[in-house]
Amino acid sequence: MSARPPRLVVGVEVHVQLATRTKAFCACPVEFGAEPNALCCPVCLGHPGALPTLNRGALAAAVRAGLALGCAVAPRGAVRWDRKNYFYPDLPKGYQITQYDHPLCENGALALSDGTRVRIRRAHLEEDTGKSSHAGDGETLVDFNRCGVPLLEIVTEPDLGSAAAVEEYLRLLRDRMILAGASSCSMEKGEMRCEPNVSLVRGDGSSTGISELKNLNSFAAVRAAVAFEAKRLEEGPWHPAGAAPPRTTYGWDDAGGRTILQRTKETAADYRYFPEPDLPDLPAEALAGFVAEGRAALAAADADRSAAAGRARAEAVRLGLAADQADLLLVRDLTGGRFAAALAAAEGAGAPAAEAGPALAGWFLGPLAGWVNGRGGDWAALRASAGDLAAALGLQRTGKATAQVVKEHLLAGEWPGTGGDPAAFLAGRGLLGGAGEEAVRAACAEVVAANPDVVAKIRAGKTAARGALVGQVMKRMRGTADPGAVNRILDGLL
Ligand SMILES: [Zn+2]
Repeated sequence: MSARPPRLVVGVEVHVQLATRTKAFCACPVEFGAEPNALCCPVCLGHPGALPTLNRGALAAAVRAGLALGCAVAPRGAVRWDRKNYFYPDLPKGYQITQYDHPLCENGALALSDGTRVRIRRAHLEEDTGKSSHAGDGETLVDFNRCGVPLLEIVTEPDLGSAAAVEEYLRLLRDRMILAGASSCSMEKGEMRCEPNVSLVRGDGSSTGISELKNLNSFAAVRAAVAFEAKRLEEGPWHPAGAAPPRTTYGWDDAGGRTILQRTKETAADYRYFPEPDLPDLPAEALAGFVAEGRAALAAADADRSAAAGRARAEAVRLGLAADQADLLLVRDLTGGRFAAALAAAEGAGAPAAEAGPALAGWFLGPLAGWVNGRGGDWAALRASAGDLAAALGLQRTGKATAQVVKEHLLAGEWPGTGGDPAAFLAGRGLLGGAGEEAVRAACAEVVAANPDVVAKIRAGKTAARGALVGQVMKRMRGTADPGAVNRILDGLL
């Protein structure tokens, strides 16, 4: 038997919420965070006799999404609707309307940066369920607002071979959905839910069972869960080549960093799929108009994106930004326009572009990105306005605050969450205005006196040790000292 490690095999199921104003089969509005059970009607609650009507907007979005993934639309000649029957408290109808053997889209693919072609088996339209939440005291609350919200379920073949490849595929998928205007894919709002199916295969064809990982709601969780499960599966048990390996569902414990056994998987037979009697089939001819409109919309979006990329390249040259900075801030617009607005404000206040551009890029991709990531990754949490940031840059440019004070006390502190006049904020904490020569001299003298061993090393020629002294002085001065002055004074003392 070969000693090669087993190969990781991953396929992914993703549910994206289609960007529509109303639900898939009724006119109830789709709204995140509304009062529980305020957005329901007899259709989405499954009252007897209520009849579903297909939302054209949901169909159009699903077609655009399928085209953006390179899928064929309705390759079997007609699109059919089915009922997937199961009992669950958040599913008042007792079934979901979905598509079983005649899905809307099939046979697409996305290419990863290393050339891996990830085949997309199918993408079908279905409706979401409600949401249960477990209150204390063993009580469970149910909110039916999400019942009937349109979803596209996108299923790949098992073409992914590492946790990093799974993450790249998901990022690419999200990008295509956003480009197609099919979904905004906000993972925080549950608009993109990812379920990797993970197994290991040996050279002789034997394999482990397939672990279906559920409830992964960030890219970091997907990466960690796939890597964890790949490691755990190495212990086996192994099933001989040709055997149908068992499928088991696992949840992900983010805090504990491990997968948790939930249940063995139902098979299609357990769901008793049968044709939905209340919705007519959609023949391919009825979809032709949607496909033509979808292709035109995608071509326009691609052209818009190319034009935006061209403008971003020119702007990056004007500002002297590095390629990766320009990509994040100008092409992909990580900050939702906040970088461009702050830059415009800084230039309006007289800062030259070649100075303001790199400085603000460093802030947005450094301390501000760190601050935002510490608060769920939503740039809307940033309350410091473009004008506030331009004013902060002004303090730094005019020497009223050192770069270190701005970075550590302003951008990494509470200020981004409140905004307001940065000068007042720093003045209130005694951090405004460079420290006077006397104070810096006193701090340098104290540090030299407190570190005779370091001083001895430096005098013996180990000049690299000098950095430690500079660092200590800066720390004592809480960053308010001008590094040039510190170096000059230390040189004198040494
Ligand atoms: Zn409804």
